[in-house]
Formats: sequence, C-alpha cells, structure tokens
Amino acid sequence: MNTKPKPRILVVEDNPVNLELLLDILEIGGYECSAAFEGAQAIEIAKREHPDLILLDIQLPGMDGISVLEALRSIPETKDIKTVALTAYAMRGDREMFLEKSFDGYLSKPVSVKELLEAVKEYLNLPG
Ligand code: MN
Repeated sequence: MNTKPKPRILVVEDNPVNLELLLDILEIGGYECSAAFEGAQAIEIAKREHPDLILLDIQLPGMDGISVLEALRSIPETKDIKTVALTAYAMRGDREMFLEKSFDGYLSKPVSVKELLEAVKEYLNLPG
C-alpha cells in the first residue's frame, strides 16, 4: 500500500463554479485540497496548513491576488510556499508582470484538465 502523503494544494478562487472544477480535477489527480474564497481566509489557511502549493486567483473581492501574494511573502510561515497566479487576463506581458511580482508561475484561465495537472506536477517537482 502506498502511504506516501498526498501533496497539499490550497486553491483560492471566488467563483464557486471555477473553484469546484479546480478542486475536482486536483482531487482526481491525487492531491489533497483546501479552498478559500477570499484573501484573508487564504492567508489564514496558508499559515495554519502550510500547503505545498497555492493556486491564487488574481481577481478576488476585497484584497486582490497580488496583495495576497505580498502578504504571504511577508509572513515567515508562508513566505516560501510556491504560489501560482490564476488569471483571466489575457493581455500581452502579463505573464512577465506576474513572475516579476514573485509568483512562482502563472496559469491563464480557463485552464484545461491536462494543462492544470501538468503544471501542478511541474511546480511540485513531481516525477514525470
Ligand atoms: Mn476571481
């Protein structure tokens, strides 16, 4: 029996349909997930659970994803957590902007099942 712990992913997304879809895909992919609808909740969960990866929507009510990332990077318990921007913006140059903001990666919505699972595997440095 494989008792290796599942990698844990925190998904931050305010759109309930998108959130459910992301959670379904990741759970089927073998990940253990937590979810947050907004920034303050995301920061609390990140501090408490220290997930292996955070998928962070940029457009959130109240505190946006960039502010959430800045907060995470300023807190000792969360500053090293790999965090990937999830964004619907399709503007040229955005990718560079997000990476400059110290995101570890960038995924543009809508994300396909294949694209999501491949990207997550890569960000977690999991084998092939
Ligand atoms: Mn959103």
